[in-house]
Amino acid sequence: MTIVFTIASGKGGTGKTTVTSNLGSMLAYYKKRTFILDADMGMANLGLVLGLEKMPVSLHEVLAGKANVHDAIYEGPFGVNVIPSGLSLEGFKDANPDRLKDVMTEIVDECDILIIDAPAGINHDGIVPLAVADEVILVVNPDISSIVDALKTKMLTEMIGGTVRGAILNRVSSVDDAMTKEQIEKMLGVKVIGMVPEDANIRRASAARAPVVVKFPSSHAAKAFRKIARDIAGVQANEEDMAVETVKKEGFVERLARALFPGS
Ligand code: ADP
Ligand code: MG
Repeated sequence: MTIVFTIASGKGGTGKTTVTSNLGSMLAYYKKRTFILDADMGMANLGLVLGLEKMPVSLHEVLAGKANVHDAIYEGPFGVNVIPSGLSLEGFKDANPDRLKDVMTEIVDECDILIIDAPAGINHDGIVPLAVADEVILVVNPDISSIVDALKTKMLTEMIGGTVRGAILNRVSSVDDAMTKEQIEKMLGVKVIGMVPEDANIRRASAARAPVVVKFPSSHAAKAFRKIARDIAGVQANEEDMAVETVKKEGFVERLARALFPGS
């Protein structure tokens, strides 16, 4: 059985591509046969953040009926299968989002989890990914406009018969107590299934064309993504997780003590 998650938001820039690449990589790490697909065809950047932007065949060609989906699958971190979109606007013009369902049918036998990186907004190419998902995951930032926009996406999803699993609260900083998780859950009417802190390592990782879970596995953001992936995959932390995730538990005082009294 394949489960299809669509990562959506109301407005752009909330972190959908970041969530897709990191969750996808971690689910593959936890031994799920995982595919991540860039349905944000106009602003395609899933391939970009994974260093796959120059690949000859992309989802554009597949949705234009010019190529087979198997020619547009590339290997990403931990063996996640990546179906990127092309960067050309020309290719975008010819791609027919209605063919997405056919693409899914073709990979379903090889796939436990498909994650679709959806475009922002409520155009036709944005509605198709919401309609084909088993569960939609909203990515929101802790600000009122992001939440209100996500609420519209949730309502739209439900209007077309879809289901929202929950929201990932991204770019949380410690000064965000202005809006608590509970308040956000109340406003959105869905559970917050994960919280990812504001973390400059995410941008540093993208610049190096890798997800933060690969490039900076002990960072706060990576830890958050690992936990969300474990919850989705239904697995416990393994020894490697524990090793990676305890690295930074050491606080400033402990680090200072270790620097001053090495070996103590
Ligand atoms: P979307 O796909 O929703 O448009 P992206 O995933 O591309 O959003 O993220 C938009 C920008 O914000 C990117 O530059 C990304 O590196 C940055 N970003 C996303 N999440 C975080 C975070 N938790 N901390 C810091 N920067 C982030
Ligand atoms: Mg994006």
